[in-house]
Amino acid sequence: MHTALTPMFDAIVIGGSYAGLSAATQLARARRRVLVIDAGQRRNRFAQHSHGFLTQDGTDASVIAATGRAQLLQYPNVTWAEGSAAGAVAQDEGFAVTLADGAIFKGHRLVLATGVTDELPPLEGLAERWGRSVFHCPYCHGYELDAGQIGVLAVGPLSMHHALMLPDWGTVTFFLNAAFAPDAEQLAALAARRVTLERVAVARIEGEADVVLLDGRVLPMAGLFVASTMHAASPIAGQLGCAVDDGPMGAYVRTDAMKASSVPGVFCCGDMARPAGNVVFAVADGAMAGVAAHRSLIEALQQAA
Ligand code: FAD
Ligand code: MG
Repeated sequence: MHTALTPMFDAIVIGGSYAGLSAATQLARARRRVLVIDAGQRRNRFAQHSHGFLTQDGTDASVIAATGRAQLLQYPNVTWAEGSAAGAVAQDEGFAVTLADGAIFKGHRLVLATGVTDELPPLEGLAERWGRSVFHCPYCHGYELDAGQIGVLAVGPLSMHHALMLPDWGTVTFFLNAAFAPDAEQLAALAARRVTLERVAVARIEGEADVVLLDGRVLPMAGLFVASTMHAASPIAGQLGCAVDDGPMGAYVRTDAMKASSVPGVFCCGDMARPAGNVVFAVADGAMAGVAAHRSLIEALQQAA
């Protein structure tokens, strides 16, 4: 499908995972013409099961996304484009989106649901265990560790948050790893939560989640928690000039309660538009963005009349 023959969609949703699927579902049910562009790189693709989503607790994360997509594609007014959106510009009372392969699509409204990527500390053995025995979210993967030995790997002062939370999920060792030095007050708080401190730096992770220290000791853990640095997965919100806010682990797009960004006609939802996300919030934000994009299409018609 190329420029000359391309219809003007009512809305283009970039990102076809939980948030984008949810937004597109509302727009589809409003009988609008919707295009979803998706590169197929869900943030949680490293984990097999997804937890905490009512009715889907413990379901394969890819099944939730695939079911959402199959149900969305039942609507004849939905078009799916596989690929990566390389750029978007405001144009002709709407937006033109260019894909990496050069195809151009136009729509009156844009919903961005492109998610974030996680940057982990460069520690040998960590990245390959991400989503299997190394996690960031206790609510997502803490329960399955069976109240066993849990390691928290410090990346900075914010790791205190992890270290003080995780004793509710098991017996915690806090690996400071030369990334953070607790003060007296923090030491007292950690002691009150019965957290064991380990000051010797970590050499690598082996086995399931065995922490090998620089002095040669090996501390086997059931799982490890580490705060990732989050980056926008796509530069498109930035290209369009959407205002961002700084979160504890990375910047995210600023939105109002209806998930409208600072740029008229652009709605943002899911992990890219909140300080910390999960599937539940992505689906809820997506529904709000879809409804808000639909409402703004109706309002534009009323103003033109
Ligand atoms: P994503 O799911 O990340 O989807 C973004 C989509 O946009 C992707 O398909 C991507 O390819 C696409 N995209 C990006 N840029 C472009 C572009 N330029 N053009 C086209 N498409 C693009 N949450 C839970 O609730 N429960 C859990 O158990 C859980 N476990 C997790 C485990 C791990 C290891 C990780 C890292 C996260 C986990 N999460 C969990 C969090 C969850 O993955 C996210 O909150 C959720 O995926 C956010 O949904 P989203 O739709 O905003 O973004
Ligand atoms: Mg999405």
